Amino acid sequence: MLAGLQPLSAETVALEHALGRVLAGDVVSPIFLPPRDNASMDGFAVRAADVRGATAEEPKQLRVIATVAAGAATSREIATGEAVRIMTGAPVPPGADSVIRVEDTESEGNSVLIHYDGDAGRNVRPRGEDVRAKQVVMRAGTPLGAAQVGVLASVGCSVPVVYRRPRVAILATGDELVMLDQFEHVLGGDRIVSSNSYALAAAVRAAGGEPVPLGIAKDDPATLARSLRAADGCDLVLTSGGVSVGDFDYTRAVVSTLGGTLSLWRVRMRPGAPLGFGTLFGAPWLGLPGNPVSALVTFELFARPIIRTLAGYGRVHRRTVTVRLGEPVHLGAPLTHFLRVVLDDGADGYPVAHLTGAQSSGMLTSMSAADALLIVPPEPLDIEAGALLHALPLDGMASSSMFLA
Ligand code: AMP
Ligand code: MG
Repeated sequence: MLAGLQPLSAETVALEHALGRVLAGDVVSPIFLPPRDNASMDGFAVRAADVRGATAEEPKQLRVIATVAAGAATSREIATGEAVRIMTGAPVPPGADSVIRVEDTESEGNSVLIHYDGDAGRNVRPRGEDVRAKQVVMRAGTPLGAAQVGVLASVGCSVPVVYRRPRVAILATGDELVMLDQFEHVLGGDRIVSSNSYALAAAVRAAGGEPVPLGIAKDDPATLARSLRAADGCDLVLTSGGVSVGDFDYTRAVVSTLGGTLSLWRVRMRPGAPLGFGTLFGAPWLGLPGNPVSALVTFELFARPIIRTLAGYGRVHRRTVTVRLGEPVHLGAPLTHFLRVVLDDGADGYPVAHLTGAQSSGMLTSMSAADALLIVPPEPLDIEAGALLHALPLDGMASSSMFLA
C-alpha cells in the first residue's frame, strides 16, 4: 500500500503551528549559539592561574572590578588578581577562562576570597558550542516535537518549510446511519449514529491529516457515486462500510464506475477482514469495513501509515512492545487477531495484557477502553496465560490529537 507513495508538496507554517509537522528542507543557522562565551554558573569570572591552589584554609583573594548580569556585558579585560561578579548566561569578560561558583567564595568589601580551585578552567560555555553559524541544525525529514520547535526558535526559524498535511476524505455509507444533528431518529429507535464519521475524523487528525468530512451516502450506487465525487482532489479517500458481501454493499462497484482501481480486497485478519484498497481520482483509496471497531483497527494498521508517509514521516509504523498474556485466549478462526487490551505493570518487566472484555467488532467500547492492540498470530488457536506476544500501543492517539487540533 505504501509503495510509490511520496510526501506531499511543501508549505510554510508559523512555528506556533508546526507541532507534528515534518521539515521539508534543511534548516541552516545564521548565528552561533551561544553567541559568546558565557557563564554556566552564578559566581566570579577569573583567570584559572589566579585561583589554582585555593583552599578553605588558604583562600586566594581577588579584586572585584565589575558585575555583569545576563543580558549585560563588560568589555573590560580581567587582569591578573582581578575578578568579575557574573550571573548565569552573562558573557564572560575578556581575559577570564573560569567561573568560580558563588558557593565556593566569600565576599569581603571590594574583593572576594576563593575557597576552592575545582572550577579553575571550568563553567564557561564556549561560543557556538551548541550551534555554529552556517551549520545545518536540522535536516529535512525531522518530525517537529517540542524540542525541535525550541531549536528552530533559537536560530530564528519562525516559519519553517514543512510537508503539507494530507487532506483525507471520509465518507460513511449506510441507510441506517445519521449524523448527530438527527439524533432524534436515534432516540426513535430506527437509526444509529454514524460514529465512524466522527471517530475517523478524530483518528485522521491524530495521525497528522486534515479530515474532509463527506457525510453519509445511502446504500444505492447513484447517491454513493455522487457523494464520492466530492473526494476528488483529496490526498487519501476513506470510505466506511458497504465493502463486504451484503446485498447492498456497493462501494467497490462504485469506485470502479468512477474510474478507480481495486488492488486488493479482504485481509486475513480479525477484526477488519472486508478491507478494500485501490485508487480513486489518482489518490489511494481505503475501503474500511463499517463495523466501528474494524474501521478503527484497519485505520490504525493501514490508513495511519499512509497518512504519515504523505505527511513526510520516515517512521510511519508504531513500535510494538512485548507483553505477557494475562489470561488464556481462544481464537475463533486461524486469522491474525488484533484484540483490544489494557496493559498493566508486570512483575518481570513485561506489561501484562488483559482483554478489555467481549471482543465483538460491533462493540466500540472495547476499543475506547483499550491501551493497545494485542497481535495474536493465526495459530495456535489456544494460547495459555503467560505467553509472550506483541502489542501495538494506542496511547499516542489521544495525546497527539490534542496538539494537532
Ligand atoms: P457494513 O460494513 O456496511 O456491512 O456495516 C457493518 C456494520 O457496521 C453494520 O452493523 C453497520 O450498521 C455498522 N456501521 C456501518 N457504518 C457505520 C458507521 N459509519 N458508524 C457506525 N456504524 C456503522
Ligand atoms: Mg452497510
